[in-house]
Amino acid sequence: MTSPGRVHIVGGGVAGLAAAVTLIAKTHRVALYESSQHAGGRCRSFLDPELGCLIDNGNHLLLAGNTAALAYIERIGALDTFERPAEAAIPFIDLAGGERWELRPSQGAVPWWLLSAARRVPGTRPSDYLEALRLRHAALDATVAEVLDPRSLLFHRLWQPLAVAALNTSAEQGSARLFWRVLAETLGRGGSACRALVPREGLSESLIDPALALLRRKGADIRFGARLRAINFAEGRATELLFDGDAVALGMSDSVILAVPATTAARLVPALTVPDDHAPIVNAHFRCVAPAEAPLFAGLIGGTAEWVFKKREVISVTVSAADRLVDEPAESLRERLWRDVAAAYRIPPEPVPPGRIVKERRATFRATPGQLERRPATATRWNNLHLAGDYVDSGLPATVEGAIRSGFAAAARIGRNRNPAAVVAPVATRQMETPETAEDRQRALP
Ligand SMILES: Cc1cc2nc3c(=O)[nH]c(=O)nc-3n(C[C@H](O)[C@H](O)[C@H](O)COP(=O)(O)OP(=O)(O)OC[C@H]3O[C@@H](n4cnc5c(N)ncnc54)[C@H](O)[C@@H]3O)c2cc1C
Repeated sequence: MTSPGRVHIVGGGVAGLAAAVTLIAKTHRVALYESSQHAGGRCRSFLDPELGCLIDNGNHLLLAGNTAALAYIERIGALDTFERPAEAAIPFIDLAGGERWELRPSQGAVPWWLLSAARRVPGTRPSDYLEALRLRHAALDATVAEVLDPRSLLFHRLWQPLAVAALNTSAEQGSARLFWRVLAETLGRGGSACRALVPREGLSESLIDPALALLRRKGADIRFGARLRAINFAEGRATELLFDGDAVALGMSDSVILAVPATTAARLVPALTVPDDHAPIVNAHFRCVAPAEAPLFAGLIGGTAEWVFKKREVISVTVSAADRLVDEPAESLRERLWRDVAAAYRIPPEPVPPGRIVKERRATFRATPGQLERRPATATRWNNLHLAGDYVDSGLPATVEGAIRSGFAAAARIGRNRNPAAVVAPVATRQMETPETAEDRQRALP
């Protein structure tokens, strides 16, 4: 099975797919190996037999400021599969007090919207927002709640919900610096970066299937049910991929992009340090049609549900960093979360419609300052082995945007190691691995 000059991508989540579509566009020969029978990993939709309709494994909210995701979506020709509200408006509903408002950032990076009470969080002043600038220079070990005032109304109504959603980590634990990066790339760039993109049908129809179709059209070798069990290494490079019942020998100019989750990567790559603390996300999907006037999605304050999404025949809610909920029985969660939906969409709380609870216990790594220290770079100590995945240090939290950036960064390294015979001496510690450079990050954006 030796195939010189081929790029072997292991893992068919968005990180692996982003690498694959980038490389195939540059006429590289690509083989994609996925252990399960479907691509998409933690970002996919499926036909739920209980509800009898399509649901996502979890609601995923993308914003126009997710530049890598947008580039990927354009590359796979899937822009038309998203609902894209014309205006950047993020609706919020305070379930305790019943207040409703929209955060409506103005177009450019100058935040003149802060001067309009109708565009801000009710009860806040323009000067309240300035405290977010403190996040930028926060100590590396500082958390969001240490830098922003957790007793303020703005924290309760904006910073906390955004931080928990973006980091999948409580504000008390989440890294202040990482939250700054998210804010800088979205709210900090104004309304044009805050316009939402919501998949019209499902995650697979928007982010996965179009990529697979493109790869197939361009001749990629795609193998499902191919679980990588081990990698053989010799003289500073990966030499063989061992799948169940199959071994793929790597030619001298072959490369490997390992785009599997963190714990799997740590099992396959010797002495690889990865984040090892994961946070759960709970989703509830209710088979029911939302009122026509209900917003496409909304942030919920003061309840258990945190975000609600209106789909064609389903209403879905998300709870991030849901440690307090993962052990609660599905039936009581269904009732509890439906009460929030009913209040948000002003529909009767009884009867509770058929619903499906999806608990992802290890949805993403917990974005604490300590866990960020454990993120590896794209490059490894092996010349032809590169890492991709949401846990790799993309400078962003474990999100679709971070995963896609990591895939682009890994793809950008292929072709730069043109001298495969040049052996990189194995090194002992992570600190000595080739760091991901500013240049890597720059090149990662196509
Ligand atoms: C419930 C939930 C809600 C989320 N909400 C959001 C959101 O709103 N916005 C957002 O941006 N992000 C969100 N995320 C995070 C986002 O889904 C992930 O960050 C992203 O999908 C990770 O992609 P990945 O390619 O790095 O990893 P994965 O999706 O985990 O892909 C890895 C792939 O590798 C395969 N694999 C594993 N082991 C092997 C092996 N040995 N051999 C071959 N293949 C293997 C797996 O089957 C999988 O397909 C959410 C995640 C979850 C779970």
